[in-house]
Amino acid sequence: MNPPIPLICALAENNQQTWLKLLAEALPDEQFVLADDLETSARLECEIAIVANPDTQILKTFKNLEWVQSLWAGVENLIDVSAEQGFKLVRLVDPGLAVIMSEAVLAWTLYLHRKMPTYANQQRGKIWNQLVYSSPAKCKVGILGLGELGQVSAQRLADNGFYVMGWSSNAKDIENVESFSGEQGLRDMLPQCEILVCLLPLTNQTRKIINKDLLVQLPKGAAVINFARGPLVVMDDLSKALDNGYLYHAVLDVFDREPLEVESRLWEHPNVTILPHITAATQADSAVKTVARNIIEYRNNGQLSSFVDVVRGY
Ligand code: NAP
Repeated sequence: MNPPIPLICALAENNQQTWLKLLAEALPDEQFVLADDLETSARLECEIAIVANPDTQILKTFKNLEWVQSLWAGVENLIDVSAEQGFKLVRLVDPGLAVIMSEAVLAWTLYLHRKMPTYANQQRGKIWNQLVYSSPAKCKVGILGLGELGQVSAQRLADNGFYVMGWSSNAKDIENVESFSGEQGLRDMLPQCEILVCLLPLTNQTRKIINKDLLVQLPKGAAVINFARGPLVVMDDLSKALDNGYLYHAVLDVFDREPLEVESRLWEHPNVTILPHITAATQADSAVKTVARNIIEYRNNGQLSSFVDVVRGY
């Protein structure tokens, strides 16, 4: 019998039970348990843990973990503990999640491209004003991050007629997507972006990357979408660029502190659309298949084909 696999998370009780049930159905020969249900000695036998926003103090009581499966795609909060405890970190890479993210990227890109924020403002002022139509082919969209989510989103925008560019650490070869990499690549791409979509992981290199130096390289009237993590953006710099009219609009799904504080002036900003971190929530039904595949791979081979590089941070 394999040692138990604890679920260590800050999810609501009924959500935890749903995960335990789905995991047990997917892998009936494994024992999935809540962390609280394991005594100290049993915790020391565990090789694998499944986590979602875990309390790191609880995670540290599992001293002999070989690897930890996150149920989220972003794992910035687990990098330090992974390095400290020496377990491998596996983030959620779920094709279903990438499709959901690409749907959101397409939806909010169309929202900006078809000037919906302007029409909403006009409606509030009872203004009947027809803006000139422009086709998506004339709209250049730049994506920061061409990873699991960025690539599918880029492809979906291209399939819907947009001119798509993408920036990543290493250049990519994606049909109908112009690829940029490195600092010079970013400088070349930014002045062309009418809409900039951020899908970068939060690392020491990317923290605060969307700051005033980056924003001034965008053309006047550009719009920004941040669907990745709040601390990628220097919010004061973004707010100033929206206040002074340099930027058209920002669509923000993620913030430094979530929920966004009620005192934040962003709520009232006419040129900001606030979303409550909903663009691509983990879907248990499809995610559980990915988790099960990883566990089977580890049980069969004693190793994993893919895990987070804790040095680069993603
Ligand atoms: P990923 O597969 O790890 O892709 C990351 C991409 O960013 C890669 O293309 C990588 O380049 C690039 N990159 C990383 N650091 C870079 C740097 N310093 N300079 C240039 N490019 C850099 O990540 P993912 O699965 O697409 O997810 C991206 C992020 O989305 C997650 O980390 C998470 O924070 C966020 N997310 C948000 C939601 C939501 O609901 N809002 C849901 C899921 C995920 P290379 O390909 O060359 O390595």
